[in-house]
Amino acid sequence: MLIVQKFGGTSVGDLDRIQNVAKRVSAVKKAGNDVIVVVSAMSGETNKLLSYAEHFSKAPVKAEMDMLLSSGERVTASLLAIALSELGHNAVSMTGRKAGIVTNNIHTKARIEEINPLIMQEAIKEGKIIVVAGFQGVSQDGNVTTLGRGGSDLSAVAIAGALKADLCEIYTDVSGIFTTDPRIEPKAKKLDMISYDEMLELASLGAKVLQNRSVELAKKLNVNLVTRTSFSDEEGTLITKEENIMEKPLVSGIALDKNQARISLVGVKDRPGIASDIFTKLSNNNVNVDMIIQNVGHDGRANIDFTVPVNDIDDAKEVVETFVKESEIDKVSYDENICKVSIVGVGMKSHTGVAAKAFSMMAKENININMISTSEIKVSMVIDEKYAELAVRSLHAAYELDK
Ligand code: ADP
Ligand code: ASP
Ligand code: MG
Repeated sequence: MLIVQKFGGTSVGDLDRIQNVAKRVSAVKKAGNDVIVVVSAMSGETNKLLSYAEHFSKAPVKAEMDMLLSSGERVTASLLAIALSELGHNAVSMTGRKAGIVTNNIHTKARIEEINPLIMQEAIKEGKIIVVAGFQGVSQDGNVTTLGRGGSDLSAVAIAGALKADLCEIYTDVSGIFTTDPRIEPKAKKLDMISYDEMLELASLGAKVLQNRSVELAKKLNVNLVTRTSFSDEEGTLITKEENIMEKPLVSGIALDKNQARISLVGVKDRPGIASDIFTKLSNNNVNVDMIIQNVGHDGRANIDFTVPVNDIDDAKEVVETFVKESEIDKVSYDENICKVSIVGVGMKSHTGVAAKAFSMMAKENININMISTSEIKVSMVIDEKYAELAVRSLHAAYELDK
């Protein structure tokens, strides 16, 4: 079998843990498998590097951020290759570039355009264990790029897809995908299986256990994806096609996203095309807009509220301020003290009343809902950040996810 194993920050968090990973990988190789390992930076390292840059600049040049942040993963990749060599293996570490991961040039959140697997395939043929530095690639013009926070998951899935691996294992500090973040609700239950679509919603809505783009790609390339812990041999969670799952729960999980901000545009000129102009510009600036609400204001002006990831606020500000300058918007305000709580489950497709139950739960806890959005398999609510944990726990209980 060809197995891709990705080890996250906590799994390579110190030298003993890297040694532990080396032993694990060694055992899989000795059992007769080909192995490609993808590693994250040691936990806390990426944030530390970020804070170094912020010491010098509030808005550091993004290309330089990619040079800086990609270094964390190179440290672990080379250390793991050294540890594996010491265990008697022929191991080689590779940067994203050497692994053939070609991206577009949107620095700090680049998208993978193609993978040229030749060098990896050659190394596998020679019996080598490959250790790839996750989270990074190279743009067509030769610059180092990174794939967005949590991007090593994407590296692993993309490599598994390109080399048609039999299995892609994501090793982390929890034993699988839970009904909600076990750090918020200790009664959360581990799921044996979850569909790609539900996992994609959960990940997109804040469950950082997997990067959302990695799930999207796993679905597209049909990668057998398993999330498990590197700290024990406990079985993990299989992320698979919906039709492979016999028992379909009404609600599979609750996600929380505290990294959201709300932008309120007050007094937006009411003319055809204004929404298109604003949101096209935001999208061209790579701002990820989520929920949008428009209300009729007065004097031919409207109000538009929308949410963006906190990290995109500065880029969003730049765009909306141009409309203020042109007097197409009267006033803009920003609120970072919000969060988004979401309920996800394929069972919603065929059952009614799921959303209503969530709203009455919020009412019972006296939590005001600011914004709502729904899709076929999710209900999301924007609420005051101070009620985040309370909302998650009461929803978890309301849908009996602890049972
Ligand atoms: P890694 O560094 O290994 O990539 P992350 O910190 O990115 O790990 O992701 C693992 C964390 O995701 C867990 O520690 C947990 O707190 C969080 N998490 C959020 N939602 C869930 C969920 N539904 N199931 C499991 N873990 C979750
Ligand atoms: N080190 C990067 C981050 O912290 C990528 C990853 O861990 O997946 O976001
Ligand atoms: Mg992660």
